[in-house]
Amino acid sequence: MSLKVCKFGGSSLADAEQFLKVRSIIESDPERRIVVVSAPGKRFPEDVKITDLLLLCQSMHEQNLDIAPVFQKIRTRYKEIVQNLKIDIDIDKLLDETEDAMRRNGTRDFMASRGEYLCGRIVATWLGAKFVEPGEFLQIESNGLIKEENYDKLGSELRDEKLVVMPGFYGRTPKGKIKTFARGGSDISGAVAARAVHADLYENWTDVNGFLMADPRLVKNPKHIENLTYKELRELAYMGANVLHDESIYPVSEPGIPIEIRNTNDPGGAFTRIVASRPKDDRIVTGIAGRKDFYLVQIEKMLMNRMVGFGRRLLQIFETHGVNFEHAPTGIDTMSVIVRKEYIGDQLPSILDEIKRTLQPDRLEVTDNLALIATVGQGMIRCVGFAGRLCTALSRRGINLQVIDLGSTQDNMIVGVELNDFEEAVRAIYEEFEQN
Ligand code: ASP
Repeated sequence: MSLKVCKFGGSSLADAEQFLKVRSIIESDPERRIVVVSAPGKRFPEDVKITDLLLLCQSMHEQNLDIAPVFQKIRTRYKEIVQNLKIDIDIDKLLDETEDAMRRNGTRDFMASRGEYLCGRIVATWLGAKFVEPGEFLQIESNGLIKEENYDKLGSELRDEKLVVMPGFYGRTPKGKIKTFARGGSDISGAVAARAVHADLYENWTDVNGFLMADPRLVKNPKHIENLTYKELRELAYMGANVLHDESIYPVSEPGIPIEIRNTNDPGGAFTRIVASRPKDDRIVTGIAGRKDFYLVQIEKMLMNRMVGFGRRLLQIFETHGVNFEHAPTGIDTMSVIVRKEYIGDQLPSILDEIKRTLQPDRLEVTDNLALIATVGQGMIRCVGFAGRLCTALSRRGINLQVIDLGSTQDNMIVGVELNDFEEAVRAIYEEFEQN
């Protein structure tokens, strides 16, 4: 019998009604033996996720304010689920202990992790499953990665005769403290669990039927994507296709465990399957994704091409500020650096100061209205004139290109446009390549 790890996201566990769907999905397939859960998410658009309430508790705790009023909201949500489903668990005791532990251990990661912890305890009791505590068995290094040798320890805990439930989103540091992944990180926990038990499949259950060729808020009825490669997925997810955390790929890509993105509200419906390689097909473009939040820092200096180490010194300034850069297009006497606004935070003035002081550029300019659009597809490399078609599609709509970067493997072309042109540019590219 093959072994499937299923991860259920916050929308799949938002209330008792969703819990019932999760149960019937698990029980309909005996191969679904390891279940990874998120914390309850939003029940309706204006609702607040449990994790956000917990983070609010944490900031109150930091300011020496009482967390009780906010924790009361968390309490109500879990109690409603337990009472509606008549789950045989002493929920008051569990919540009291958790609130107490949060007052004692007020770190951000500990508090944020309690949503998944509580949800895992409730689901495990409800399904009569074994509960595996990631705070004991899932070791996360300071760079957020898992060491090869630590998969085995988690794997032997997860492999069991019984159904197993593990909370997502957190693990422990090498020193034993609770540590969370980035937001949305239960997807990564599911992938880590799949790798640890050498699963045949990692099912990621969410509230959509997988990936679409473009964001449906920008493009009307975009095509559904049936198959994606890990690489295509990583590029699309990194560039804003918000279905799966982009770092969920690294644990499963090496052993080649496929991922399926499925819809808890439509279990028999369409889904996207993500694999190491897919058969060559006629598709040129697999998907289009974009983000709006970038700075473009442009530097000009006469005879830059003769100055050995100029590029390194420029990038080092970003590095010493702890800022990742996305792209660094160069000309003869020009170099630009594209960075995400969220990575720079409030450090822009000090970065610019240092550039002026150490590199004395002839011109230094910052554009803060840059959006990047990635057009991704393994078929692009075989398509003569691909870049021409894309640029023509944009120029026909009067959209000016600020940056062009055809990735070195030529399966991802990134263009930068002004913020105001973003939506129109995505639509133009989609329409050009919808039929391939
Ligand atoms: N609950 C966490 C979040 O909201 C992690 C997750 O759901 O994946 O970010």
